[in-house]
Amino acid sequence: MSKISKLFAEDGLLTQNLPGFSPRQAQTDMALAVEASIDKKHPLIVEAGTGTGKTYAYLAPALVAKQKVIVSTGTKNLQEQLFHRDLPRLRKALGSFRKTALLKGRANYLCLHRLGQQGGHIMSDDQLQNELVQIRDWANSTKTGDMGELTQLPEDARSLPLVTSTADNCLGKDCPDYEDCYLVKARRNAMDADLVVINHHLFFADMALRDTGFGELIPEADVIIFDEAHQLPDIACEYFGENLSTRQLSDLAKDVELLYRTVLKDAEQLHKAAEKARMIAADLRILFPPNPQKGNWKEALERDDVAIQISKLTESLGVLYEVIKLHLGRDKDLDNMFERVSEMRNKLAMLVDIQQTGVSLWYETTQRHLVMHLTPLSIAGKFGAFVNSPQRSWVFTSATLMVGKGFEHFQRQLGLMEAKTLSLDSPFDYPNQAMLCVPRFLPEPNAMTMRSKLLEIAEQLVRASDGRCFLLFTSHAALREIAEKLEDRIPNPILVQGSTSKRALLDEYLKRKDAVLLGTGAFWEGVDVQGDDLICVMIDKLPFASPDDPLLQARMDDCRERGYNPFGLIQIPQAVIALKQGAGRLIRDAGDRGVLVICDNRLVTKDYGKTFVASLPPMQKTRSLDKAVAFLKQIRLSEKSA
Ligand code: SF4
Repeated sequence: MSKISKLFAEDGLLTQNLPGFSPRQAQTDMALAVEASIDKKHPLIVEAGTGTGKTYAYLAPALVAKQKVIVSTGTKNLQEQLFHRDLPRLRKALGSFRKTALLKGRANYLCLHRLGQQGGHIMSDDQLQNELVQIRDWANSTKTGDMGELTQLPEDARSLPLVTSTADNCLGKDCPDYEDCYLVKARRNAMDADLVVINHHLFFADMALRDTGFGELIPEADVIIFDEAHQLPDIACEYFGENLSTRQLSDLAKDVELLYRTVLKDAEQLHKAAEKARMIAADLRILFPPNPQKGNWKEALERDDVAIQISKLTESLGVLYEVIKLHLGRDKDLDNMFERVSEMRNKLAMLVDIQQTGVSLWYETTQRHLVMHLTPLSIAGKFGAFVNSPQRSWVFTSATLMVGKGFEHFQRQLGLMEAKTLSLDSPFDYPNQAMLCVPRFLPEPNAMTMRSKLLEIAEQLVRASDGRCFLLFTSHAALREIAEKLEDRIPNPILVQGSTSKRALLDEYLKRKDAVLLGTGAFWEGVDVQGDDLICVMIDKLPFASPDDPLLQARMDDCRERGYNPFGLIQIPQAVIALKQGAGRLIRDAGDRGVLVICDNRLVTKDYGKTFVASLPPMQKTRSLDKAVAFLKQIRLSEKSA
């Protein structure tokens, strides 16, 4: 019997020491597969249905192995939950003394150097001034420098970018505060630990050597485990590409101005050159429509006005580069700015090179800024090669990796065709716990009458469930319209994404007990509402990515050129994974019950609908909305009699 079999056995340490633990075959199977992957150093991909207990199934073998382990998650929330809840419980149960560490992205740590800089000039903004006073008070006592400790500060406080660093402005080893730097200390802890919990963004920053002082962690690791691995392909592409935003230029100009006002008071040319580059960048943004959008950057560069503005920007960055060069050596921050300008010039040159192949050039705008992107069409070759050399153990897990019955889509994206795969069904009794309804008589998804039909269905569902309902949308426009109209039709509180932070909205939802929550992207995943607080999820449409997305378009063109069908190879698998995520919000626990209503008749009228249905858990199925409503009423009745 292997160590892991013993741990997960009826009389094993986990049953003895973890309150509420009882062995589950699927969990043990996964733990054994992870143990084998660690021993034999082969990549392993596991889809573990909700409720399998995958966290312990990978953490236990990771703690038992006498090797350096990195566990990477998709979100900060899961990172914290793993580090502060699951790991301590498991270590205690196993009597493990393995050293663990939590490492977040640099934007989470106080930067002593930048905080020091903020004292040198008068601020006209009272709110900002107050926030800085709070931060200084806290800075006197914090041991970790983790900004998350300052709970009274809003997540999007304007002071945060002033007192945290970016890879651009960090001085690294040249920093006078280097020895006391919280980020440096957090990284040293991570280097010393046996098991480090990080997130996917950090992992790829490290792998792509995108951040000063990084690039040290991965070479040391023997075992790398990714949870929420379905997010990896998108995040990896981001890091293997390039981007440059007008915000970065504006931040640089602000930093130059701060330096000019506080330290280099004689260097007026410096300030003027930076200001000119900032204004040209701001004018570039104005050439695009005011509302945020995404578009094809290659096509935008064919416009005369854009081409002229880009050449002005290139020239102004050249001037700024030359002016900073004149003052090199006078100040460490200025030397760092020289590096930043050099890098921006290189990036800009890459982003306007329309001859390159194998990449997509695209842009996106926010209210105030423009971001130019270069994204590789595939990272499979690079990532696959990285996984294979040098040999170490890799585990990729998530509740949503398979499309239909296979892993090919995920494997193809990451170049993991040789990896071992394992699929573990959820232990939940879906046929009895949940019902899937695709209502009859739905208009076509893009028909004018669809919104009023959605409204009608939403009203019936909310009344039957008395709130406790998520209405998930694929577009903000549909969300806004239904939210507005639903308000006049139901008495329940309506909570709408975007009105406040995701966390605050969820807290309010749980507090109200009869609320309806309307959300798009952010609520389709990473939300865990258990029990009778959520008994109904309605989805407005199959979540195909917008065909206007320039990156998707470029991938589809490339796929077509290689003789494949992009709809089957890219769009369907992507939408299946997204739908599985959305549907996964409903049943989170063995005692949960509920109804999933998907208002898209393509699930039954199109051939590909079968792939979507086969990818969902085995709920009982109906086309009758009345039956779905009756199921909800039955849940309410049984609640009352309980
Ligand atoms: S090393 Fe970087 S993050 Fe640390 S204090 Fe200095 S500038 Fe800030």
